Amino acid sequence: MPLETLFGTGSITAQDIVEAAEVAEETPFYFYDAPFIIGRCQEINKLKEGHNFLPRFAMKANSNKAILQLIHQQGFGIDASSLNEARRAKMAGIPYSAIMLTSQEVPEGKDRRDLEKMMKKGLKYNACSVRQLELIADYVARKKIPVSIRVHPGEGGSGESITRDTANPYSCFGIHISEFKSALEYASKRGVIVDHVHEHIGSGGNPEKWRSAIDRLTSIIEEHQNYLTHLQSINFGGGLKQGRMPDEQSADAAELCTYALDKVKSFAERCFGRNLRVEIEPGTYMVAMAGSLVTRIIDKKSTGKEGFNFIVSDGGMEVNSRPLYYGSRHPFAVVSSYGELVSSECDLSTVPKDSLWIPVGRCCESGDSQSLDSSGNAVPRRMATPQIGNYFVIGGCGAYCSTMTPFNYNSHTRAPEVLKRASGEMQLIRESQSLTDVVKGERSL
Ligand SMILES: *Cc1c(COP(=O)(O)O)cnc(C)c1O
Repeated sequence: MPLETLFGTGSITAQDIVEAAEVAEETPFYFYDAPFIIGRCQEINKLKEGHNFLPRFAMKANSNKAILQLIHQQGFGIDASSLNEARRAKMAGIPYSAIMLTSQEVPEGKDRRDLEKMMKKGLKYNACSVRQLELIADYVARKKIPVSIRVHPGEGGSGESITRDTANPYSCFGIHISEFKSALEYASKRGVIVDHVHEHIGSGGNPEKWRSAIDRLTSIIEEHQNYLTHLQSINFGGGLKQGRMPDEQSADAAELCTYALDKVKSFAERCFGRNLRVEIEPGTYMVAMAGSLVTRIIDKKSTGKEGFNFIVSDGGMEVNSRPLYYGSRHPFAVVSSYGELVSSECDLSTVPKDSLWIPVGRCCESGDSQSLDSSGNAVPRRMATPQIGNYFVIGGCGAYCSTMTPFNYNSHTRAPEVLKRASGEMQLIRESQSLTDVVKGERSL
């Protein structure tokens, strides 16, 4: 049976690529699938029934205004990773009371005054270092604003790569378990109300480690419960694994969250004699598979009999750096300019085994390929013979692509973004950037 959608999941068809390209008016562009995102929100929201549960969207995964609005409309709060992210969420119309700030920033000067204003309006501040706690202690104690503390559990982290594991001794996120007690003592001495404990053990790691992190954090809280008499919420962070390739497993989000909800319910009743709220902060899981990067094939080359065949497309590392950063794999599809599906990695049944191509971008950088292993070697991929002018579509680009790439490298302009609405309408949600925009602010000699 032919694939109905490009990557066998979500709602995007080959015909949609052509329609969206007309709206974007250029390639490359990011193309997002609203029905998919809404479906993910509903899947998580179902777990609210009978539970005190707040999912927050980790906006560093995708910070486009329309995406934030879409997810917030579904009842999600926001996890912001910087003051500017919190400001940006507010600019999208999301109230501070729906935002929690977990950052490495130490607020001083104007930032500090802005942070105070945000906290007064309900932003939840997550102290991630002793110094952060010291700096806000006076203010929050005086105003009786309860805060959160992020604990580094010391072990048990897990990430898709070592660089995305945030709970090992090489990672300094949060107040380390060895300093947790003294931090709580300090808070208590200064009159700081801690009503929230947070952890985030990494991104895209082993779901079993996510489950054991729930057990570990509840034990840590139990051990320190004398200092946590005001506790209202436990936040297990993000990191729910999303497989992007057909052979990659995803976390069973509903199962893991149900485990967390049940665990906290019995634990909270036993230790605190009351219910506590459970929070999670998925980023990747909500949007990764909702986004594709649509590029166009502009050239074909080969490196001879002993070498490889290449396709050059007009977007690569400057629009999706994940292969270069992490050796991440993304599924590929080729679509004709008339909207026929030429090839999809989700169904290779008709593609000859030796039809192998290395996709590269147009940057002057030998690592500019969308298919690299973790040592940086290009990996040929199977696809039906692509033609110049075909769309080369890179799936799994809804998270950490538009927010995380070195746009403007080689002076390429930032890619526009298009959203397929639930109605089927294609909507431009980020305009294309001009070269004038790129050099804005530069001064002559
Ligand atoms: C990055 C991050 C997340 C989201 O991680 P995903 O792997 O994208 O789900 C959630 N919480 C915190 C504190 C983070 O830093």
